[in-house]
Amino acid sequence: MPSQSSFDVVVAGAGAAGVGAALGAAAEGASVLLVESESTVGGDMLTGLPILGAWNSRGEQCVSGILQDLLDEAAAMPGAVIGPVCDWRTVFGLCVCPAALQLAIFALLRRRGVVLQLKSTLTGVSCRRRAVAATAICTQHGTRTFSGGAVVDATGSGRVVDLMGGTLLAPDEGRRPQPVSLVFRLAGVGFDRFLAFVRDNPDAALLAENPVFGVTNTEAAQRLHEGGQPYVALSAGGALLGGAIARGDVHPCTAFFITPTSVGRGEVCVNATRVGNSGEDAWHVLTELAEQVSRSAAFLNLCVPGFEAATVVSVGHRLGVRETTRVLGEKCLTGKAVLNGRKCPDGVAKGAHHVDLHGGGTDQVRKPIREGRSYDIPLGCLIPRKMDNVLVAGRCLSSDREANGSARVMGTCLATGQAAGVAAALLAGGAGGGKARSIDVADVRCRLLAQGAILDGVH
Ligand SMILES: Cc1cc2nc3c(=O)[nH]c(=O)nc-3n(C[C@H](O)[C@H](O)[C@H](O)COP(=O)(O)OP(=O)(O)OC[C@H]3O[C@@H](n4cnc5c(N)ncnc54)[C@H](O)[C@@H]3O)c2cc1C
Repeated sequence: MPSQSSFDVVVAGAGAAGVGAALGAAAEGASVLLVESESTVGGDMLTGLPILGAWNSRGEQCVSGILQDLLDEAAAMPGAVIGPVCDWRTVFGLCVCPAALQLAIFALLRRRGVVLQLKSTLTGVSCRRRAVAATAICTQHGTRTFSGGAVVDATGSGRVVDLMGGTLLAPDEGRRPQPVSLVFRLAGVGFDRFLAFVRDNPDAALLAENPVFGVTNTEAAQRLHEGGQPYVALSAGGALLGGAIARGDVHPCTAFFITPTSVGRGEVCVNATRVGNSGEDAWHVLTELAEQVSRSAAFLNLCVPGFEAATVVSVGHRLGVRETTRVLGEKCLTGKAVLNGRKCPDGVAKGAHHVDLHGGGTDQVRKPIREGRSYDIPLGCLIPRKMDNVLVAGRCLSSDREANGSARVMGTCLATGQAAGVAAALLAGGAGGGKARSIDVADVRCRLLAQGAILDGVH
């Protein structure tokens, strides 16, 4: 338990956004408390999923800063950073060994003096007018109260904003929320055999969806093979996976999204399982998802060249939730702005992932960003309406559903987290008279640039 009871910045939630916020605030010299309900930090960065949204579809880096710090740290482990890999479908995803990433996160948090409070949940706030004066944190040893100059809500669902009586946007706007999933990793995969199979059977995979690549399916499959990295989406529309779904051997899904996590171990991450999202209470579907993992692995072993001897080495440490509530902020990121790759002078982070909304079965909306651009996220999307010293970051930033289908990915969450952390540190230091909406955005941008963030250009 920390002996201190007052911090400049309290960050609630230690997924990609919370890690970005804590490290961004600490780099400004703020004292930071990072509170997380789970027993570790990093969220989905520990699963082996590729970090998306950090490179645009042209292959240009759009997110740096904390992300680059983490990569530099992880790169000390031989072979840990595979790098941005093109899937010749829509994206460049950053592939990193998750164990190395976890160690990198812990190392940076320690070096920057961030105080961790794990297995602890922020359950209450006491407010002075429109500002948080203190946070109540339920730990294994009872409830502790911490005061702070500013709070970052990186809970993924706007929990702090909700406790303050702020406005939350429903996840689905009248439709079903995106399904929940459990990702897993397999080692002992023969990369070359698998890629040769895809080269010879391009219809088995999702390929060449983004016009910016300007290649046919066959050419895309050839380039994938040449690249040597198994970043492949086996398609439900192809005979291989489609046949298995039709036979009932595997559950209905859009694709098996396969990405490399270690060349040395012949290891990949597989994002394939899905069950309709029944809201916050989705944990009861875990056993069903686990069964899907077993059947998916069996299908890969039996039917997909290169996977004959592959074994499951890890199953997601938590349920993968794509969509929950979002916060209504001073500004709202729209799908139109995302798809047009809009730039704005008050941008404090960039996103670059296509709009990606999963349906319950084999359906999925995937809309590429115009000309493979990146888009800017204004500071106002990180400032909850009618609140003074609270910022929001990550999946629950202020956005409409379509925009969130892009901005929810980890590269963008790290970037919005870093921006919120810097703004929170400034607030705690008295900037804007303690009101987030009065902070000078030029100051936030200047400090983010000094931390290595990318804020300008990149199409
Ligand atoms: C199946 C699946 C596949 C995906 N694939 C990719 C992919 O390939 N690449 C990619 O970049 N993104 C992917 N995403 C999206 C991405 O992983 C998430 O949207 C992103 O990690 C969200 O980060 P976050 O920090 O905003 O939220 P989270 O990672 O959810 O972090 C929020 C944290 O807050 C904690 N918390 C909540 N309430 C409290 C509280 N009151 N007190 C303390 N702690 C609290 C939670 O325990 C949680 O750890 C995928 C998502 C899913 C579900």
